[in-house]
Amino acid sequence: MIYKYCPICGNELGIKSSWDEGMVPYCCEDNILFFDIPKTVVLIAVLKEDKILLLKQSYIYETCRVLISGYVTNGESLEETAIREVFEETGIEISNVRYLGSYPLSEKDFLFVGFVGDYIQGDIVKSEEVENAEWINIKNAIEEMKDDTIGKQVVNQVLKILNF
Ligand SMILES: [Zn+2]
Repeated sequence: MIYKYCPICGNELGIKSSWDEGMVPYCCEDNILFFDIPKTVVLIAVLKEDKILLLKQSYIYETCRVLISGYVTNGESLEETAIREVFEETGIEISNVRYLGSYPLSEKDFLFVGFVGDYIQGDIVKSEEVENAEWINIKNAIEEMKDDTIGKQVVNQVLKILNF
């Protein structure tokens, strides 16, 4: 996001040179540069044998299924975010969280970071923000996720590296 006003004091931002970054919005009151950095969102493919855990969340997509996702909290590693989000949204415990790739969506200020993790234990106990959470055969996942373009890239990466 390119800031015009300081989110701390509300003053209109000036601009300041920051070495290789060039001219960057700057608050002289708070002495802070506001770089155009994205919000980091973790996407996590949870696997249980040949099944993957997918959600229905109409506020994201009306009809299709999506991967579990969530914002990284300050102070948390990406792997910790993945483990926390899966537990919060579905009650499932996972381990062996592995990085798959990163997927920028600049028009929405997002950087998605894809992970895969293995089911350890738990039955699905979905949170309020989830309408449905289900284990889907991974071979059918892509066709269930038609609007989730980035989620599909993550699942394709899982299919590629794990030879399903
Ligand atoms: Zn300020």
